[in-house]
Amino acid sequence: MSKSLVAVVKFHEAYQSVRRALELSDGLAGLKSGDRILIKPNLVSWDFDLPFPPYGVVTTSAVLAALVQVLAEEGFGDITIGEGPLMVPKTIGQAMYKELGYHVLRDRYGVKLVDFNEEKFVQTDLGGLTLHLAESALAADKIINVPVLKTHNQTRVSLGIKNLKGCINRASKMHCHGRDVELSHTFPHIAARLPVALTLIDGVFGLAKGPGPTGTARRLDLLVASRDMLAADVVGAALLGYRASAVEHLTYYARLTGGSVDIHDLELVGEPLEQNIHPLEYDWEWTPDNTGPLGYAKRGITGLAVRKYDSTMCTGCSMLFNPVLVMLMAAFKGEPFPNVELISGKVQQASPGFDYTVLFGLCPYKLNRDNPHIKKAIAIKGCPPDLQEFEQAMREIGIPCNYQDYVQYRHYIFHRYKAADGFDLALFKI
Ligand code: SF4
Repeated sequence: MSKSLVAVVKFHEAYQSVRRALELSDGLAGLKSGDRILIKPNLVSWDFDLPFPPYGVVTTSAVLAALVQVLAEEGFGDITIGEGPLMVPKTIGQAMYKELGYHVLRDRYGVKLVDFNEEKFVQTDLGGLTLHLAESALAADKIINVPVLKTHNQTRVSLGIKNLKGCINRASKMHCHGRDVELSHTFPHIAARLPVALTLIDGVFGLAKGPGPTGTARRLDLLVASRDMLAADVVGAALLGYRASAVEHLTYYARLTGGSVDIHDLELVGEPLEQNIHPLEYDWEWTPDNTGPLGYAKRGITGLAVRKYDSTMCTGCSMLFNPVLVMLMAAFKGEPFPNVELISGKVQQASPGFDYTVLFGLCPYKLNRDNPHIKKAIAIKGCPPDLQEFEQAMREIGIPCNYQDYVQYRHYIFHRYKAADGFDLALFKI
């Protein structure tokens, strides 16, 4: 059996770098003229209210524009860009396309810009798992997958296979973070179902403690290209410092498709792998007794136990968890908190011995509403929950949470990136 070809290329100028990555990986060989091509970037979310550092969070517009230019030059004329971003609460796909300058691709090359959330989803049996897939993704002859080189606090890495989770509807995304299914055994079925002809991992920036903007980005200047999605992910994981065999969704996908996660089974071309490995942490460290992030213990916070999120917490709640942690941290004024436990997701149970139990989201509320361990429940029942309601509820028990503290934090994390270090917003605008 021939080895899958994977190219690792240094990113210098976008067009030249993308072209080289495609040439070295023979990346366009799976496409035929006349194919309906869907490009799936990673545009999981954006924030139009607060400063949003996109580095390592979303696909750079520079790489995407270069890819479209190469495709147009090679005679591929039926190109769609599609994504199903997080609903906050309404979908923001078209607003993101505008923000990132994708309308230029529409005007210049006739590229169609599709927000999956605005279109039809088709109930699809993926071998025992039923999910609703975007019609445009199912209708494509070939998909070009353009994820970001990032870590993920629930799945260690988020690369090509994970990126295709954006092709399902909101209810299916929630289902993937189910109580009775392991997250890493769900979304690989989507990747296995779709006709992915090329994976181009955008590693202009890499992201530690991803997948969102509260992670820490590094300028890495790398591209990974392969016609074999698993092979691209194995190399992407290695570049982030992870053996693919230690990433559950990669091994699961390999079993599902008969592939290999052994890097020695691949043919690597371009830059030497060893010299381009940048180990990035994927998660925040928690205290050994699971009372909160290590930073809480370092600050001397007591009287509070924020249980660590698990993989049953879906993105809607995940996006709010960091604001909650920041608000609680800022609310600490040196006095112990009033003996509070906070639980989240679909499986966490309230512990005995607390005066207050915060049920963060509809899921922990449903699971714990009759839990005899709870003395006083503080139910933030939304799906996802409402931060103002959380702030108000905390104040009522004497914890002075203030959303403005989170706003300040967002300004801080945005401004810590300096243009001099390569954090150039122009890379995100066509
Ligand atoms: S409450 Fe949170 S974890 Fe539960 S379904 Fe809603 S967003 Fe997901």
